[in-house]
Amino acid sequence: MGSRGYPLPADEPGRLQALRALECVGTGPEVEFDSIVELLSTIFHVPIALLSLMEEDHQWFKARVGIDLETTDRCSAFCAHTITGNDVFVVSDATQDRRFADNPLVRGEPNIRFYAGYPLSLDGRHNIGSLCIIDTFPRQPTPVQLEQLTHLAKVAEGLLRGHQRKVLIRLAEDKARKQHLELTEQHQLLQQVEQMAGLGAFKVDRDTGETYWSDQLFRLHGLPIGTPPTLREALHHFPANERKRVLTQIKADFKTKCSTLVETDFITAQGRKRRVRVTGDLTDAADGSTLIHGVMQDITTQHENAQSLWRAAHFDNLSGLANRESFNRHLEEELGRATRAQKGVALVLIDLDGFKLINDSLGHAAGDRVIQVVAERMRDLAGDDAFCARLAGDEFAILKRVDHDGGEPLVELRQFADAMIARLKRPLFYNEDKVYVGASIGMACAPQDSNEPDGLLRCADMALYKAKRSGRGMALFYNDGLKHIFNERRSAVNSVREAHLAGRIEAYYQPIVDIRSRQRIGAEALVRIRTSDGALIGPDDFGAAFEDPESARTIDRSVSQCVFRDLASWHADGRDPGIISINISEYWFQIENFARRTRAALAEAGLDPASIRLEIGENMLVNEDAGAFKVELRKLMDAGMSIALDDFGAGFASLTHIRDYPLDTIKIDRSFIGGLCSQRQQRLIVRAIVDLSHSLDLTVIATGVETEAEAEYLAEIGCFLAQGTLFQDAVARDRLLR
Ligand code: GH3
Ligand code: MG
Repeated sequence: MGSRGYPLPADEPGRLQALRALECVGTGPEVEFDSIVELLSTIFHVPIALLSLMEEDHQWFKARVGIDLETTDRCSAFCAHTITGNDVFVVSDATQDRRFADNPLVRGEPNIRFYAGYPLSLDGRHNIGSLCIIDTFPRQPTPVQLEQLTHLAKVAEGLLRGHQRKVLIRLAEDKARKQHLELTEQHQLLQQVEQMAGLGAFKVDRDTGETYWSDQLFRLHGLPIGTPPTLREALHHFPANERKRVLTQIKADFKTKCSTLVETDFITAQGRKRRVRVTGDLTDAADGSTLIHGVMQDITTQHENAQSLWRAAHFDNLSGLANRESFNRHLEEELGRATRAQKGVALVLIDLDGFKLINDSLGHAAGDRVIQVVAERMRDLAGDDAFCARLAGDEFAILKRVDHDGGEPLVELRQFADAMIARLKRPLFYNEDKVYVGASIGMACAPQDSNEPDGLLRCADMALYKAKRSGRGMALFYNDGLKHIFNERRSAVNSVREAHLAGRIEAYYQPIVDIRSRQRIGAEALVRIRTSDGALIGPDDFGAAFEDPESARTIDRSVSQCVFRDLASWHADGRDPGIISINISEYWFQIENFARRTRAALAEAGLDPASIRLEIGENMLVNEDAGAFKVELRKLMDAGMSIALDDFGAGFASLTHIRDYPLDTIKIDRSFIGGLCSQRQQRLIVRAIVDLSHSLDLTVIATGVETEAEAEYLAEIGCFLAQGTLFQDAVARDRLLR
């Protein structure tokens, strides 16, 4: 018994487990159990009869008579002894028994003297409690009585088994209910997942054709949930052109690897176009049948996203044409293909003329609309065989396959380009406005011009540049002459850049004289570059650099600085070279606040504006920025500076320009002077210019005078000022005033 005060049965943990599984302790009174203890008390004439269940540290009475307690602790329980045996446990007189003499239930209420109990077991191994009778007098039960107790204990065990069955049934019911609940939840969850993922499941018995569809599969088809359609009906949800492919692939897959995956367009019962992915597997069921089961997933959103990503990566959003990256890739592929097939490729580069003006005058949206219309027209005319792209802003490219050896195809290409220009030139409407846009085209062909993507692009670019420079609205092929021009320009630009960095740009001066007195009245500053080996070169050697805005500005700036420095130094020496002319390009004029800056530079050098004459080219009068130039020129003229129109007669400048522009001097282009003696027409033109200048109160200067005869004629018609080799070539600063 040890310190516990009661003996332990052999397998106490197993016993407690069996008791707890019965779920009887703590339950309410039940008439069947109560009847047994009543019966016990009656037939044995005892005041107390109990059905005790033995918990770990106390006993609990499922049924009792003659005692108010519901429990007692295990130490004082007689039943604690009963459950350790397999037969009736009898204590005839507790006061005489060492184990119980000091038991509080013996010494005090209810003053037990006699006890007889029979262990109760449901499994024959563990005694979970006992049925017992108790008296307050010592007794010696007869064998018959003990047998009766045993019988009644068996009846009690039967009742407990009944209870146990009820518990088991309830447990099973609980479990079934729980499982049902779980299944319902899982089903709902599955449906939700199916719905969220746009997933519908199916199962088909390949032999019987018996089909199962999940609810979501009906929804995906746009069909009411119910009986699945036949395979033939289901296949009609794939577009006709996809049906065969889908079926063939599924059949082939099942034949080989028993698993399939197809992606295809799909049409719901309501006619909505979707994109689906169908996966399926073949499995052999336990009953020997073959099942096809799988899922169909609506992937329309992913598909559309992937499509738009693909489009964004390959197409230009505004025009719907291929973008530059896509074009580059295509160009490379086409050149590779053409080389292999010994065929040719033509690259047609198109840049709109005056597109900025549309943006500036009608707004960016109008410009966008023009881009769209241009793209439509381009695609339409180019046809399906050509590849059209928008490279940037208003620049487009078309790739066309041509035969290798030029000739006829080039004629066709020219016709195509001319037709394109004509088509693009047609007016289009933006809101109420009739909008006109032109285009220039540059073309190059592989393999003749270049077989490399970069090379071909460069060639077409040069041709386009030339088309722009030649007046726009035309299509030009690349040729080697163009290459020469561009090489020349590149080398000229390099020369200017190097000379500028090394401070080797100088001003030379060609005197302007009065023909009559041969006195110098001023000079024109002319740019010269001192090469790294000391030679002196003039614009004949680097004139192409004037086409490059940066180089042109560099030259203008350097020459102006030289002139200001030289003038300041001459003035400091008390010498006067007369008015010095400086040529300025349109690019120099684009510098903001040109007039103010020029005056500031003059003031810094301590020079009077009247000591300078600016010579501007005719192109500046017809330039789109002519209005702005005019304002700046006016400011300088008001400050006392002389303004001359250079090379008059050679270009586009008209009398209107002369009248409208702030000018005080006209320089007659040298091309008229050369023919003065031989051509009557030239003489008439020059005379007209001189007369006109005088009537407008303009100073007139003849340039390129090389012979006395020319000088004489000029003096005769009243043109007294001139420059040219007859008088003096351009000289270095220190030789001008000698
Ligand atoms: P040029 O005749 O010399 O070709 O001159 P241009 O007026 O056509 O102008 P240019 O080709 O030099 O410049 C194209 C202009 O197109 C510059 C830019 O402001 C404008 N641009 C570029 N992308 C877009 C666009 O997506 N939409 C609109 N509306 N304008 C654009
Ligand atoms: Mg343009």
